[in-house]
Amino acid sequence: MKNEVLFDLTYGMYAIGVKDENKVSACIVNTVVQVTNTPNMIAVSMNHGNYSHECIASSGMFTVSVLSEDTSGAAIGALGFTSGRDTDKLVNVQHKVLAEGVPVIKENICCWFLCRVVNHVETPTHTVFIAEITAGSDEAKGRPMTYDYYHKVIKGRAPKNAPTYQEQQPTDDRNDGESWICTVCGYVYNDPDVSFEELPEDWVCPICGMPKSAFKRQ
Ligand code: FE
Repeated sequence: MKNEVLFDLTYGMYAIGVKDENKVSACIVNTVVQVTNTPNMIAVSMNHGNYSHECIASSGMFTVSVLSEDTSGAAIGALGFTSGRDTDKLVNVQHKVLAEGVPVIKENICCWFLCRVVNHVETPTHTVFIAEITAGSDEAKGRPMTYDYYHKVIKGRAPKNAPTYQEQQPTDDRNDGESWICTVCGYVYNDPDVSFEELPEDWVCPICGMPKSAFKRQ
């Protein structure tokens, strides 16, 4: 089987809010699924190396914020492409901290839930946490962002720790040497009207926020 056929599996885009003893953090995942409805339980897959994995394993709780199509690439990049171990990923993202101490995102989400871990399944690289929803939004609004929308409209990529990550092949969008690729998140800049060299020096990757120096010619 070619790995590419797995691209036909469909997913959403979610921010997972977590806490440790001293602070709150969040990360982006595409693998949240509802597994039962009495009670409402979900499963989420998380890489062993993620700081959020550590937080969920020790606190036994997390939140899910369902991102809408209005969520900016910059917000996804801030939560998805750096580690919360050494940075405050939520510093530029509007959020509130629930009484239970875990954060939910406030900007451009459809709804949120608070989840308590009831079980987990180990794989060589990821833990699948099974959790019961104990609280959440009364209603949902907006259109939830699908993983496909993130790739095709926002032009985002999967970070290496994502369960669905596959090595990116260089794209054939343009072959005149004018495409530049972000070495952190894989975003490709190829605006035919403004060349990469003409972008201001303080321009940053719209997906992960890295500076121009993180890009290389494709
Ligand atoms: Fe980037």
